[in-house]
Amino acid sequence: MIRAILFDLDETLFDHRRAVAYAAASWTESVSPGHPLVMETPALWLDLENRHLPAWHAGECSFAEQRRRRLRDFCGRMGLRLPPDLDAAYADFLVHYEAAWAAFPDAAEVIDALAGGGLTLGVLTNGVPVQQEAKLRRIGLMDRLDPVLTPDSLGGNFKPSAECYLRAAAKLGLRPQEVVLVGDNLQLDAVGPAKVGMHGVWLDRYGSSPASAVDPETSSRISAIRSLNELPGVLRVLDPGFAAAAPPRRTARAGQARRVSAAAATRRRA
Ligand SMILES: [Mg+2]
Repeated sequence: MIRAILFDLDETLFDHRRAVAYAAASWTESVSPGHPLVMETPALWLDLENRHLPAWHAGECSFAEQRRRRLRDFCGRMGLRLPPDLDAAYADFLVHYEAAWAAFPDAAEVIDALAGGGLTLGVLTNGVPVQQEAKLRRIGLMDRLDPVLTPDSLGGNFKPSAECYLRAAAKLGLRPQEVVLVGDNLQLDAVGPAKVGMHGVWLDRYGSSPASAVDPETSSRISAIRSLNELPGVLRVLDPGFAAAAPPRRTARAGQARRVSAAAATRRRA
């Protein structure tokens, strides 16, 4: 029986790519007007996130230090003068980033569709609580999702460590089998939770191609969707009790979801 849905935040409920695209270009423009490579800055910034976030996840550096490393590399790759105070420069970058914060349109829709059905609706994100909760407040979802779980409240364990998911289930007072995790990163939000007994729903907004195999037992606990509006349909298939308690609503597209039988995509951002 499904009792809780945990949503990833970045690129699941919150449109991180859009905010990064705006911030990388507009911050670069502010320090180097007319820079010829400004159109390349969004992809570069996302690439540097993937390069530097793992060191923080592994406990090798602080959250602030991985930000400094990102900005230092960004300036180096763009041929920009290195700011004398990287923390101050990063704070400037955040002003641009926060100016473009927005939810995906289907985020509120799916929460509306699931609310009132007796399910706990929460968040499980690898980010830091102060920033992630600020995002949720800005996009109007903070009061509708509880709890908001981060590694800070899970013993410092990040997705995709098994301990992260197990502690999240324990925080909810549930068995892993009673929890569904939904997110854009196949490894962090679907394969990882499926390995501990949760059901993982991979939100594949951009039609990525799964590249490598997952063992059959794990893949049997993974579904893939292209939009959050497909989630109620997945839940009705997984749990007949949910189907009885929560009849189809306007956002559901039952039958559209697909199982991931041989899955694991190119690593995407946490
Ligand atoms: Mg994500």
